[in-house]
Amino acid sequence: MDIKDLGKRILTGERRALARGITLVESHRADHRALATDLLESLGQHGRQALRIGLSGTPGVGKSTFIESFGMMLIGKGLRVAVLAVDPSSTRSGGSILGDKTRMDRLSCEPGAFIRPSPSQTHLGGVARRSREAVALCEAAGFDIVLIETVGVGQSETVVAEMSDLFLLLLAPAGGDELQGVKRGIMEMADLILVNKADGDLKPAATRTCSDYAGALRLLRKRVQDPQGFPKAMMVSAIEENGMAEAWGEMQTLVDWRKENGHWNGRRAAQSRYWFNEDVRQALLAQLEEGAVRSEMQRLGTMVAEGEMTPSAAAREILQEYLKR
Ligand code: GDP
Repeated sequence: MDIKDLGKRILTGERRALARGITLVESHRADHRALATDLLESLGQHGRQALRIGLSGTPGVGKSTFIESFGMMLIGKGLRVAVLAVDPSSTRSGGSILGDKTRMDRLSCEPGAFIRPSPSQTHLGGVARRSREAVALCEAAGFDIVLIETVGVGQSETVVAEMSDLFLLLLAPAGGDELQGVKRGIMEMADLILVNKADGDLKPAATRTCSDYAGALRLLRKRVQDPQGFPKAMMVSAIEENGMAEAWGEMQTLVDWRKENGHWNGRRAAQSRYWFNEDVRQALLAQLEEGAVRSEMQRLGTMVAEGEMTPSAAAREILQEYLKR
């Protein structure tokens, strides 16, 4: 495979090349991993920056309907939109439940849109790296917006927030006292809370839910990277395509403010550092799973269990022998 050529074709925005590049970064094969690393290197400093928007919400809240409506609106403005999914839970079905093309049939027909289903998963660490690299490829291919969708499972929101410039939380209208259903940590990550399904019979409940969340957001600690009034809660109807332009307006306000005040670059720099640390951590953890280290861990583990060695002495032995190489 000619990696340099593939890189060039991605930079010209060729969709097939982009799809191939993503397949490469998603692969588990060691030779593919080496090629993927070369590919990312070969793209170099192209200077393009997409707006990376993370979107989280539980199944059924309307994520794919929202992405379709919101994506179509962006396409209508002449923007190119890529949609990726981070779905650590899809091992259950052996395939993706997110980013399924059939769920976004209008958007997937648009020449300016690129929709990539989630790869089958092993563990979140691996998913995270592959998704982050797929985002980088979409950015190199010149997409203006990269939407990264995730379902609220475990740590997946944190992973998506760490690769996004903006993080949106999509919620459904609640009947009564459902506020506590959303974990505080997730609320703290959100730049915008969108209460979806604000239409028909659900409108009054959506209004109530929205004002509950607006109140809850005001109680959170003010973040330095936010202008006055953020994070915000607002209502949308993905089905009726209401509130899309308003939501986009809020996102632009936030982005402009952050760019003017140095927080955009600051956040990207912090994310690069985060992913560097994560990659090292993951690689070290992977070493523990390798044959020789693993059997040595087992041997020492047995000695510790039988009281022949202290845990810290055994740990030191492993660290000295293997991780300092
Ligand atoms: P996802 O699992 O989060 O991707 O949710 P979907 O987009 O598949 O939507 C789940 C269900 O909610 C579907 O039956 C949609 O038709 C419905 N739905 C999505 N958005 C809206 C909306 O704005 N209003 C109403 N009333 N229903 C919606």
